[in-house]
Amino acid sequence: MLDQSRIDPLRHAAIAERGHFINGRMVPAQDARTLNVLSPIDGRPFTRIASGSAQDVDQAVTAARHAFEDGRWSGATPAARKKVLLKLADLIEQNALELAVLGVRDNGTEISMAFKAEALSAAASFRYYAEALDKIYGEIAPTADNVLGLVHKAPVGVVGAIVPWNFPLMIGAWKLAPALATGNSVVLKPAETASLSLLRIAELASEAGLPDGVLNVVTGPGAVVGEALALSMDVDVLVFTGSGATGRRLLEYSARSNLKRCYLELGGKSPNIVFNDAADLAKAAKVSAAGIFRNSGQVCVAGSRLLVQEDIHDDFVAALCNEAEALKVGDPLDLSSQIGAVHSLAQLESHLRFVETAEAEGAECRTGGQRILEATGGYYMAPTVMTGVKATDTIAQKEVFGPVLAVSPFKDEADAIRIANATEFGLAAGVWTADLGRAHRMIRAVRSGVIHVNTYGGADLTVPLGGVKQSGNGHDKSLHALDNYVDLKTAWIQL
Ligand code: ADP
Repeated sequence: MLDQSRIDPLRHAAIAERGHFINGRMVPAQDARTLNVLSPIDGRPFTRIASGSAQDVDQAVTAARHAFEDGRWSGATPAARKKVLLKLADLIEQNALELAVLGVRDNGTEISMAFKAEALSAAASFRYYAEALDKIYGEIAPTADNVLGLVHKAPVGVVGAIVPWNFPLMIGAWKLAPALATGNSVVLKPAETASLSLLRIAELASEAGLPDGVLNVVTGPGAVVGEALALSMDVDVLVFTGSGATGRRLLEYSARSNLKRCYLELGGKSPNIVFNDAADLAKAAKVSAAGIFRNSGQVCVAGSRLLVQEDIHDDFVAALCNEAEALKVGDPLDLSSQIGAVHSLAQLESHLRFVETAEAEGAECRTGGQRILEATGGYYMAPTVMTGVKATDTIAQKEVFGPVLAVSPFKDEADAIRIANATEFGLAAGVWTADLGRAHRMIRAVRSGVIHVNTYGGADLTVPLGGVKQSGNGHDKSLHALDNYVDLKTAWIQL
């Protein structure tokens, strides 16, 4: 479906400087400040975006509130809202390649993944929630005959959405689609290093017929724009994907302002557990490698800790290293690359420090561990496998968010569960076993929001994604995500 001859003309296309998207049009920052956009492919700047301020956030929140209150979207019939969101899904699909290439120039994800996991997945999200929105019913309570208890599901009002750079379109759509489907207005703040594709989505939404002011995008630094959005007295719900440190700040901002509900999807240190009875260890090695190395490990659910049963440990590690070494890392817009670029120089340097720290703590680097393709000017790292990692080591406890796998042996089921749960995180996990009873015991015992069995990754829109422990609260995806964007309102009617 993807074809290099269609990608190449887009890779150097000039991108005009972008403003915020407020009230249906692109506007510059009020103080005219801008930020350079660097491509991780070659380290070069290729356009500029607006660097927002609290005043810009205020302007966007005011537009969103105004749009919500006058009912131009919140009061539209479900059928009318559905039509617009389905049209948006169509437009995203029609522009999928352009959106994917734009996003890759901004964030470095390999194009084959960006095309599916970013552009097509965003279209699928808008379609899913468009289809769902006229099937959401309220409730009639089982009351005495002389009263009627109604439970309405009312849109919350203005939603603030703060999203990261690793999958801006996919994660952005996980939040925008249910928020808009339920009739809310939104102010979206993309990561300052991955704003371009989301700005384009806002334009496409307008083209699809979304009324002005319903979806606004304010770009710029997290500590300025994100903070102002989270502190706003006029934002009713905040939805976020990003780091634990920022998540904690958002809860503080909520407490300091209007107690807005915050739904946080934070980091992970997800254990991928391979038992000696797994049916196909060669497949397990291949899928486990993809489960940590795709998008250069910049995936919140990445299987970044590999726990392998002692008696198969050495053979499995050898197979896994072979898989890691066979992965072609390179220009993410070249279809022959299986792994693209690390998002930024700061990220790359942080990954290399994690490797150094792991070695200092006694782990062994079995493959990778270094920057590669430096002559391109871009940021690339060889898929890295560290063995002999203890559960207390830094690399087993802290999220690297890069192509670095920490491997530890375990003795038996109880040992695997103990090591798997020995972190502050609880986002994802994986279990490889042919024993159905063991699979179900592990599903119950491992504390995580999602657990893969005999595979890793790939859970689609039909199932929720959210963390337990310090990986967050609330859920993206599935019909459960709709709960984030509605208030339950009771009407108690005396008959
Ligand atoms: P990451 O480490 O993945 O970049 P961050 O939590 O720093 O994770 O970033 C995720 C999103 O949060 C980005 O859009 C970023 O701009 C935003 N952000 C960063 N700092 C703050 C902050 N203090 N307040 C609100 N948003 C922030």
